[in-house]
Amino acid sequence: FGNLLILRYYNCMRYNVAILGGGPAGLSAGIFTTRAGLKTICFEKLAIGGQASLSHEIANYPGFENVSGFDLVEKMFNQAQVCGVEFNYSGVVGLSELKSGFIIKTKSEEFTAEKVIIATGAIPRKLNVPGEAKFMGKGVSYCASCDGNFYKNKNVAVVGGGDSALEYVEYLCKICKKVYLINRSENFKAGEYKLNKAKKHKNLVVITSSNVVEVKGKDSVEQIVVSGKENCLLDVDGLFIAIGHEPDLSFLNVDLKTDKNGYIIVNEDMQTNVKNIFACGDIVSKKFKQVITACADGAIAGNSCIGG
Ligand code: FAD
Repeated sequence: FGNLLILRYYNCMRYNVAILGGGPAGLSAGIFTTRAGLKTICFEKLAIGGQASLSHEIANYPGFENVSGFDLVEKMFNQAQVCGVEFNYSGVVGLSELKSGFIIKTKSEEFTAEKVIIATGAIPRKLNVPGEAKFMGKGVSYCASCDGNFYKNKNVAVVGGGDSALEYVEYLCKICKKVYLINRSENFKAGEYKLNKAKKHKNLVVITSSNVVEVKGKDSVEQIVVSGKENCLLDVDGLFIAIGHEPDLSFLNVDLKTDKNGYIIVNEDMQTNVKNIFACGDIVSKKFKQVITACADGAIAGNSCIGG
């Protein structure tokens, strides 16, 4: 069995560093590792840029007064490529530890790396109400800039109270007839800037201290049931859910320490409890999750791979 593992190791494509995830954290990490001469591969399962590429407008990244998320991550991607990061557009489905280094598996290939940086961000949290799963892709969406155009001149609802929900409102108010914003509390987590901007739209109806408890329809979304301070049935064609994100580490075969919500615990060098595995960005247990903090984490993780 030992010889088999060694044979597998030598048949794999070998790297100094493997980065899992091509969002702001992963791209930043790659810029630092390659500039230090480390052969680096970055795996991305969906689209380069991660969540940031979905952001309509980023107004809090230094050096750019106002930039679309897509334009910002495109610059990061170009820089990473110029530095020499190799990109593999597959999802990582397995990560296991060898005696020295790690095996990274995609559906069709295996790679080895001496060090691994996990930068897989987070996936949208579900409401978990009746009808949500049934109408996913048929009116239920987690991304306004991806699906918003299907709802031109139609009525839609956005659930949430954070920056993402307010971004969705901003985007949808410009193309939809009416947009309901439903927040479970009176207070919004979103920054004042986004909140004030959204409130200027005349086709926005804000419902607070209420929840969407059911999604109804025949072949696609037709109505949502709202319960709380407001109890009503709203006629909508689309429901955009923006209630935060959660980590997905189900593909890992290593025993990483996480917090109670499943986010990876790291020290100030972005080192996890497993030697030579680092983590950075939104997948890490921390309070402030933004593009700038993801990039900073990525820089630290990349730097921590150098030497040692
Ligand atoms: P992500 O951006 O989530 O990137 C992780 C990447 O890893 C993804 O591309 C994913 O596909 C990939 N991945 C996951 N699993 C695997 C796997 N198994 N194999 C290979 N690849 C994998 N921040 C701001 O600073 N300002 C804003 O105005 C702002 N607005 C936002 C608006 C919206 C709508 C959203 C959703 C987020 C916004 N954010 C904003 C937050 C910001 O985008 C995130 O904090 C940041 O993108 C986190 O970067 P990351 O690289 O850690 O993770």
